[in-house]
Amino acid sequence: MITAVMPTYGRWDVAVERGEGCYLYATDGRKFLDFTSGIAVTSLGHCHPHLIEAVTAQAQKLWHVSNLFQIPGQQKLAERLTANSFADTVFFNNSGAEAVELSIKVARKYQSETGHPERYRVIGCHGSFHGRSFATLAAAGAEGYLKGFGPVMDGFDHVAFNNLNEMRAAVTDQTAAILVEPVQGEGGVRAPSADYLKGLRAICDEYGLLLVYDEVQCGMGRTGKLFAHQWAGVPPDVMAVAKALGNGFPIGACLATEKAAIGMVPGTHGSTFGGNPMAVACGNAVLDVMLDPAFFERVQRTSRLLWGKLEALVGAYPKLFSELRGSGLLLGIRCHVTAGDFVAKLRAEGLLCLTAGDNVLRILPPLIVGEREIDEGLGILHKVAKEWPAS
Ligand SMILES: *Cc1c(COP(=O)(O)O)cnc(C)c1O
Repeated sequence: MITAVMPTYGRWDVAVERGEGCYLYATDGRKFLDFTSGIAVTSLGHCHPHLIEAVTAQAQKLWHVSNLFQIPGQQKLAERLTANSFADTVFFNNSGAEAVELSIKVARKYQSETGHPERYRVIGCHGSFHGRSFATLAAAGAEGYLKGFGPVMDGFDHVAFNNLNEMRAAVTDQTAAILVEPVQGEGGVRAPSADYLKGLRAICDEYGLLLVYDEVQCGMGRTGKLFAHQWAGVPPDVMAVAKALGNGFPIGACLATEKAAIGMVPGTHGSTFGGNPMAVACGNAVLDVMLDPAFFERVQRTSRLLWGKLEALVGAYPKLFSELRGSGLLLGIRCHVTAGDFVAKLRAEGLLCLTAGDNVLRILPPLIVGEREIDEGLGILHKVAKEWPAS
């Protein structure tokens, strides 16, 4: 008999009751160190006091009005996001997939408005993940996720990630935009070479394409800057964010330059819930914390510390692990052993981690993680590695 909850997930044997900071507490009394952060969502940890205060205050004032009204918190959040990014304008929605989907719509609309309606195709990269809607599945092109859901939506081409020659060769007179994750998350925690984004920007400028970033996972502080592409200093024309923007309250956003959003006039897009007062109260509370100049200094220090300790782990067990990769606190260890088995053993020992494509053990601690929790996590990683057969 089918379960009441549609059985689309391979769920763990952990029923969570509550969370606090870096820790989760299960209904059966077990305590876990959470290095998954709800898949890069709860970046300020569980039940952050400032967020509790903000969402409680908002809940007592107003939950929802439609986007036919002025929503002051939405305007404030948009102004703060644009002041701290390449963007001039922001549309709020409820999820990463929606934010990417709108980014694709913005790119097509831009081409159509500027005299090139024939330019509708988007070039994406193998190993990408952009969400589970029809367009975002087609944009990523991963066969496993598309199987049985055909026909695949038209308008997407794919090339190897981190390969500028392939990208340039794939541009045709029907191409509207290039869509990439500045650091790939689900596909295996892959950071491209230093000049990759710069090369993409040059291709886009040469052919009149829009450069679209999917920073749903790598953005909102995950790499130690507010946005991952800021390390390379190469701005896009359009960008999708979500995950950590609400620290667990569902909110996504599509950020764009004024030029790219030229066609996005009244009536061209909408959302019932997108940017409602509760969601933007959370988004603003997240920014209150992240925009403190000391915040990212600390995240960067923590990231360097964790990187060093993980590098030592990978070096100590060459039969289990082959490579440490990623950026900031978006980290992956490529495994020789089956990453999923290793993650299950870590979980049994009280440490929650994830897997990613390419047999990678994915580590996403909250950005507020401290040295004590890092040492606790590393202790469990070393213990499981040491006890692994044939390590
Ligand atoms: C999670 C993710 C998405 C999809 O976000 P949802 O909120 O699940 O729709 C899109 N792009 C990237 C890079 C992601 O990691």
